[in-house]
Amino acid sequence: GSFSEAKLPDQVLECCKSFSKPSPIQAHAWPFLLDGRDLIGIAATGSGKTLAFGIPALMHILGKEKKNASKRVNPLCLVLSPTRELAQQIADVLLEAGKSCGARSVCLYGGTSKGPQISSLKSGVEIVIGTPGRLRDLIEMGICCLQEVSYVVLDEADRMLDMGFEPEVRSILSETCTIRQMVMFSATWPPSVHQLAQEFMDPNPVKV
Ligand code: AMP
Repeated sequence: GSFSEAKLPDQVLECCKSFSKPSPIQAHAWPFLLDGRDLIGIAATGSGKTLAFGIPALMHILGKEKKNASKRVNPLCLVLSPTRELAQQIADVLLEAGKSCGARSVCLYGGTSKGPQISSLKSGVEIVIGTPGRLRDLIEMGICCLQEVSYVVLDEADRMLDMGFEPEVRSILSETCTIRQMVMFSATWPPSVHQLAQEFMDPNPVKV
């Protein structure tokens, strides 16, 4: 596959201009995600998976966004990640990729003061990337509202559950729109991850 086959607007492909072609996971995932399907992916870091879910996230935002984007305070997309490092890595990619689309990313993680994270949320956000504990805190404080989130990514779902974040993940997912598109990446597929997918995803997600 080539980038032109993906039929994406230039502003969305801006972040890919140094790449020669979509990575295999991107080429497989994009058509389904752009079609609004739920998707389960088994992919390692380094496979280009951030843009595999990130480019469709930008399209999701462009499809929803009306005028007055600068006044947006509630995010449209959410990426949950098990660790701060991974969350920051994803946020770096999405911050850069979102620039040409006016999609603003904010990264929320624990172990650091809430103040700067709260300020960036208040200045406007389309995409929240977060670790479950800090995100849950900010939701409970009434600082972060997920009711308009209609595109959700669970990255490294197995690791997130291994780390004991299942209650937070469930509670966070229940705060998002009931009509939502969901993407789940996991390196393994234990019963706990399977159960989570059954409860929160379409009955027939695409598997790549
Ligand atoms: P990720 O798996 O998302 O962490 O991406 C790993 C690396 O692959 C990052 O440095 C990306 O910049 C790079 N990358 C993403 N998409 C492509 C692509 N289509 N072609 C070449 N490199 C890519």
